[in-house]
Amino acid sequence: MTPILPGSTLGILGGGQLGRMLALAAARLGFDVAILDPEADCPAGRVARTTITAAYDDPGALKRLAEASDVITFEFENVPARAVERLLASGAEVAPNARALAVAQDRVEEKTFLNGAGCPTVAFAGADDVAALAAAIETLGAPCLIKTRREGYDGKGQTWVEHSGDAEAAFRRVGSKPVIVEAPAAFRRELSVIAARGRSGEVATYPLGENHHEAGILRRTLAPAKVPDRTRAQAEQIAARILGGLDYVGVLAVELFEIDDGRLLVNEIAPRVHNSGHWTLDGCEVDQFEQQIRAVAGWPLGPTDALARTEMTNLIGEDADDWKTLIAEPGARLWLYGKRESRPGRKMGHVNRLRPLRS
Ligand code: AMP
Repeated sequence: MTPILPGSTLGILGGGQLGRMLALAAARLGFDVAILDPEADCPAGRVARTTITAAYDDPGALKRLAEASDVITFEFENVPARAVERLLASGAEVAPNARALAVAQDRVEEKTFLNGAGCPTVAFAGADDVAALAAAIETLGAPCLIKTRREGYDGKGQTWVEHSGDAEAAFRRVGSKPVIVEAPAAFRRELSVIAARGRSGEVATYPLGENHHEAGILRRTLAPAKVPDRTRAQAEQIAARILGGLDYVGVLAVELFEIDDGRLLVNEIAPRVHNSGHWTLDGCEVDQFEQQIRAVAGWPLGPTDALARTEMTNLIGEDADDWKTLIAEPGARLWLYGKRESRPGRKMGHVNRLRPLRS
């Protein structure tokens, strides 16, 4: 594919903070940006050239986005499959591809793909009803975790089950929807790796991040995570297998469990830039947002080396009110997402605190 030239338009499905930071990176490289988001006045729309306010599956809106854009990407994985089909039917170029979206949208398909690609996960089974759930709990053993197959995030749509007699109540707790049943991962740390694959198949992998959650929401990422060389090598191998297996173009995030014997299990993948990669904005040579633009535009990928030891802290709800203190802090870089309304649990911004790499 010939590279998409500066001055072209990048379309983005989704106008939240990830879309905003993608749009900023695109603008820096000379692209115009068109956003499609159901919400008027969304964070990305305010830094883009064109904003289309409509539902993601609105045929007219998708046609307009396709006409306006030279290449289209997305900032979240729950884009309806029919939206991508419509974009492709309008002749649009979309990256990452529809298969990557489909795999990431369904936890059973995702883990089946991962195991088939040689990436280890916890033992799991799919269950569409209470009887199948009870049988899966018997097979996998209790306690185990059940999650809705589709559309769960930040720990929502998940519940622990203590024994197979709990199947009915547990199924109801997650909304009586098809589920995945997972064996517990005895992990000592949660890590993630962000990696990118370009149009010609080259792969670039960032140093690992160590993630800490509070109330199911990512709170902090420490990067580069202090890990043995073999852990880094294993993460790189996992990322390369996923990217190659999906014939992927763009940035991908892989959430990992480091289990007690030091091995990595894949928890889930996100076919997009990711909150645990925000440290790269200030801590790396080329950040994950620029990398995504480079990949989808068919440009060479950039170097992923860390320039600083970085602690990324999400500013959730009222945390962002401390912006005056944060901008005065030496070594701290503040990112605010321009959200009009602060709510408890809402990601309003983040701060990257930088220290010398060898500290
Ligand atoms: P997820 O929505 O799959 O990212 O899960 C949210 C969080 O639940 C993860 O960050 C882990 O802390 C925890 N978790 C998910 N799956 C498992 C598992 N199989 N065993 C133990 N903890 C898990």
